[in-house]
Amino acid sequence: MLNNWFDQLEAMYEQMVDWRRFLHQYPELSFQEIETPKMVATILESYGIEVRTNVGGRGVVGTIRGAKPGKTIALRADFDALPIQDEKNVPYKSKIPGVMHACGHDGHTATLLAVAKVLSDNKDSLSGNVVLLHQHAEEKLPGGAIGMIEDGCLDEVDYVFGSHLSSIAPLGTYVYRSGYSMAATDFFEITIRGKGGHGSAPHETVDSVAVASQVINQLQLIVSRRVDPQKEAVVTVGSFHAGNAGNVIADSAKLTGTVRTFDPEVRSLVEEEVKQIVNRVCEAFHAQCEIIYDNGYPALYNHEQETATFEEIIKNSLQEDMLTERPPVMGGEDFAYYLQERPGMFFHTGAALSNTEDRYPHHHPMFDFDEKGMVFAGKALLSIAHHYVTENSNINLLVK
Ligand code: MN
Repeated sequence: MLNNWFDQLEAMYEQMVDWRRFLHQYPELSFQEIETPKMVATILESYGIEVRTNVGGRGVVGTIRGAKPGKTIALRADFDALPIQDEKNVPYKSKIPGVMHACGHDGHTATLLAVAKVLSDNKDSLSGNVVLLHQHAEEKLPGGAIGMIEDGCLDEVDYVFGSHLSSIAPLGTYVYRSGYSMAATDFFEITIRGKGGHGSAPHETVDSVAVASQVINQLQLIVSRRVDPQKEAVVTVGSFHAGNAGNVIADSAKLTGTVRTFDPEVRSLVEEEVKQIVNRVCEAFHAQCEIIYDNGYPALYNHEQETATFEEIIKNSLQEDMLTERPPVMGGEDFAYYLQERPGMFFHTGAALSNTEDRYPHHHPMFDFDEKGMVFAGKALLSIAHHYVTENSNINLLVK
């Protein structure tokens, strides 16, 4: 049966490419998606799939009900683009200035639409249901997932899975990790107010550049001296703005940065330490300060049991040598919220272009991927659905 599903998916390849290229030409920014969710809903409805729109904002949720009762599995694809100018020279280049699908979310959407068609055509052989989570706004805090969850998108769901295309991983590989897989992403903005004055009379001023420099140096001690060396953390100050002239002491300085962690205890430790250092260093040097600390997405935790099941599913339905375990990465993903609510896992599907010179990382103005990656992603999602919502799976659920 699964092989038939694969054939039906492959027969939709040109359709997937058309959808993906259309979305690529008309990308929409996070929380501003209008036409994309409309297109998704129209396509799902044309397949007779039950659709709910404006879920948690701009999300679209489709539900395919199988002929027999059983578990409900959710499959997620995000559909927002990024504020990046498309620099590629391809016929499907973005037509919207300064907006680009530079993370492959156009491909995720096209893939899940094709998967939806195949599963809907085969709903008579499903025991259980499939929920299609077409999610808005993955790229911008607070993210679309949290709103969709609050609006009930997981209410009927037992398990949740998602695939992300990778422009770097070799075509057709499945890259994943059990446990902590992607980092919690937090951001801070620090404003330090001193007292400006003449560059020749520092004693009459509070030099915000000197104080901010001390702050940056002390922040680097958090990871090296405060965090358990067995645990991961990154503290990066990415911008430092102060002053306009070489002979004037700047009266204020602004620093912005990001913190990446996995363990929730480490996450709150680093937050406390950042605030403590900024406050105490500024106090020591007679400066005032203000800290805005934004908690972004939590760390993405792939559940052990479902990750082991995923490995078995891929080994059985595709090929063992396509599985690639990797260390955790410090990037973030709001799929983490779904995994806080339900068991499941999130993996990357390799879609690197064959010519290495054409390969660019995600969020790069030249970003692109091998569209055949969509077929591999779709096959993995179909294999997962086949396992959880048919009676034909031959995989022992007790693998551990
Ligand atoms: Mn992404």
